[in-house]
Amino acid sequence: MRYLWVLLAAGIALTSCFSGNSQDANSSSPTSKEKTKKFSGDLSTAYFASGCFWCVEAVYESVYGVEEAISGYASGTEANADYKLVSSGSTKHAEAVKVLYDPGKVDYKTLVKVFFGSHDPTTLNQQGPDKGPQYRSALYYQNDEEKAIAEAYVAELKKNKTFKNPIVTEIEPFTTFFDAEDYHQDYEANNPSNPYVQSVSIPRLRRFQKAFPELLKTAHGDSGADKDKKEGEIEKIVKTNKEWQKLLTAKQYYVLREQGTERSFTGEYWDNKEEGMYKCAACQLPLFDSKTKFKSGTGWPSFYEPIKTAHIADHTDASHGMVRDEVVCARCDGHLGHVFDDGPKPTGLRYCINSAALKFEKEQ
Ligand SMILES: [Zn+2]
Repeated sequence: MRYLWVLLAAGIALTSCFSGNSQDANSSSPTSKEKTKKFSGDLSTAYFASGCFWCVEAVYESVYGVEEAISGYASGTEANADYKLVSSGSTKHAEAVKVLYDPGKVDYKTLVKVFFGSHDPTTLNQQGPDKGPQYRSALYYQNDEEKAIAEAYVAELKKNKTFKNPIVTEIEPFTTFFDAEDYHQDYEANNPSNPYVQSVSIPRLRRFQKAFPELLKTAHGDSGADKDKKEGEIEKIVKTNKEWQKLLTAKQYYVLREQGTERSFTGEYWDNKEEGMYKCAACQLPLFDSKTKFKSGTGWPSFYEPIKTAHIADHTDASHGMVRDEVVCARCDGHLGHVFDDGPKPTGLRYCINSAALKFEKEQ
């Protein structure tokens, strides 16, 4: 892998002068994430740094029109970057994301709005609990138009006194971007039980989603489902029946591991109207958001779509003399329930899930 970085760096060195071209210097070299998926149509790129890239990536990936956000390191002077180097603070790189977006669906100004709306641009070299220049707030423009949009937006924020303290965001020409290591990509989605993700990343994403519901994929009937399915990056958890028995209550074990069904109107969540997230009771993978829960009248918790399609797998289940689509947790293969095609808009699906397979986490 190392030699590839050297080649990339050499390529960047040749084209690193700011050219006013909207293509970034290394866009001809697809990243590992880009390679795994096919993009439809022409996508534009944009670069933002606003603290830990796990959080920033998750924020942008929830925005309508964003096809992909890639975590990486931007704007360093060194010809190489990796997590160890950057987090040592010895390089000048910032943790950043490369946003690939469809300009027919979302414009640059909106992405700038997302940027300022999802972090605190007034804390110098710090974002939340993360301190150091690698966590600075920075926006890297690729041409005069982007620069003008960013500066005008900052002027607007100042005029409206949106922030009490002065904005310290660096608005700088784009120079270089290195993809972060594969394990950093989709980190928030793939590591929902990581304590940092739980206490910092997910709340940050939730705050953004609450403040800008109209910008989200879900507001446009786009769950980003196809994209998620292709990535399939969920790491499996495999345990023996004995191990599961130790971890789960008898009822949970019966549903999750023995494909059982709880009696309708008896579970803990069929009538739960609180806001929050439903996770897999066995492995804690986030499965459903309360926003997609609806009253189905069946006596089981019902949702019209999962948080990420990649978090749910479906199998055809021919038991009980019926052919139904069984849904299981993509991480631990625990049985959750079934999916039917008589649900409400926008998906028309009804995920009929056993309460015993879920663990509800109330929104803070
Ligand atoms: Zn699970």
